[in-house]
Amino acid sequence: MKIFISADMEGVTGVVHRDQLMPEGKTYERARKMMTADVNAAITGALRTAPDSEFVVCDGHGVMRNLILEELHEAAQLVVGPAHPNNKPLCQSQGCDGSFQLAFFTGYHSRAGTPNGLLSHTWVGSAITNIRINGEIVGETALNAAVVGHWDIPVGLVSGASELGPEAEASIPAGFVWVPTKTTYGVTAALCMPPAKTHKLLADGAAEAVKRFKAGKLRPHKPKLPVTISVEFHRREMAAKAVEVTGVERIDERTIGATADNTVDAATIAWKAVCRAQEEDPAWLK
Ligand SMILES: [Zn+2]
Repeated sequence: MKIFISADMEGVTGVVHRDQLMPEGKTYERARKMMTADVNAAITGALRTAPDSEFVVCDGHGVMRNLILEELHEAAQLVVGPAHPNNKPLCQSQGCDGSFQLAFFTGYHSRAGTPNGLLSHTWVGSAITNIRINGEIVGETALNAAVVGHWDIPVGLVSGASELGPEAEASIPAGFVWVPTKTTYGVTAALCMPPAKTHKLLADGAAEAVKRFKAGKLRPHKPKLPVTISVEFHRREMAAKAVEVTGVERIDERTIGATADNTVDAATIAWKAVCRAQEEDPAWLK
């Protein structure tokens, strides 16, 4: 079978602080190793119950060049490179299509506005207050579940810090395996399990996810169509800029919406709008 893995970094084993999340950070190199190892653990586990599986992993964090290709399991291929709308219109779900049967989300984090959530945000912390699908506030878990759900692909495994479990359970269809990698204390601190432990949990979780998929226990996340993905920005200037993208409408002072017949199109337009909103004004306009 074919399994799509969307890999983020904030929910990875041992990651609790911004210094670990960007290449200029002193502890980034260690964190990206742990990110790669988390993904490999999920792949190893899935191969236990589905030995002939192929995997595509989308590096879904920040610069999107975090996972270490030379350390990645040989059963996987890796989507590498920044999520410019012209390159990776599906952002953290780039590489997924109708040829996959199952999806895993590793290293995920809670949504923007989660009280005391570890490194919580949705898509772009510096720009976005909330994202909604058909009026419901969502995090990246429900957002990407809706994208892969377009192809009827269910999410079989979600891993991240403790507070993500309840968020995922409340926002995507039941049946997936939840793997906590750490217990959150606050925005930048958690009680962490070492890789030796989380890798066992991730491998066992992935093996169980494949079992549940084969038993028909997983359902794709399919929001009602036509679907509206709305983005509430921190500042009204961002909404004003985002609305320049074709297919985007202004909902209120700080909020824009992308409505489409399917979740892939709506997510593509919404992501393009978010990227446009962040563009700096040219020097001659400042
Ligand atoms: Zn991230």
